[in-house]
Amino acid sequence: MIPAREALGRLREGNRRFVSSISSEERISGHLRRVELVKEQKPFAIVLGCSDARVPAEIVFDQGLGDLFVIRVAGNIVAPSQVGSVEFAASRFGTRLVVVLGHSQCGAILATIEELQRPAENQSRNLRSIVDRVRPSVEGLLKTGLGLNHDALVRCAVRANVSASVNQLRYGSEVLEELSRSDDLLVVGAEYSLETGIVEFYDDVKSS
Ligand SMILES: [Zn+2]
Repeated sequence: MIPAREALGRLREGNRRFVSSISSEERISGHLRRVELVKEQKPFAIVLGCSDARVPAEIVFDQGLGDLFVIRVAGNIVAPSQVGSVEFAASRFGTRLVVVLGHSQCGAILATIEELQRPAENQSRNLRSIVDRVRPSVEGLLKTGLGLNHDALVRCAVRANVSASVNQLRYGSEVLEELSRSDDLLVVGAEYSLETGIVEFYDDVKSS
């Protein structure tokens, strides 16, 4: 089992390689690696990220086959099936690091802001279920008057939405809470910049 701090270091290193365009993907995803993984997987990190085509976790962290257990859903929201997937990987594979990975200019955030400012009629019930989970993060910000500055609102909403997902994983699951207490499971927030390719891990990770 790889401790959470070490796993975090690997992700930071991998993102540095990605940003400097020295990807090692071929080495880590080749035929031998595939054969090795047939019997079992031991992903060293769980990533709950957005479905956005520009933010594939394996690529932005320069990781290969079997390295990451990835759950992707628009807006990196936490619904019961996402909690269940994280619980499954943490319990079954002993993975000790969970990263909620949001990103700049997230379409789910933009759609939620739009919906709050100009509610659409006949929105699909399924799409609404995503917007409804992002909504509390944005509503609080609109009350502060941030709605007047669209870019700042989007930036803050991305961050608030990641933090909300982190909190739901930290405190919304008995299984994960117990693993955090007894087994050093770490749930952290991070944000990918479409502009620079850099993943910034949120402050509470650095200080602890
Ligand atoms: Zn997104």
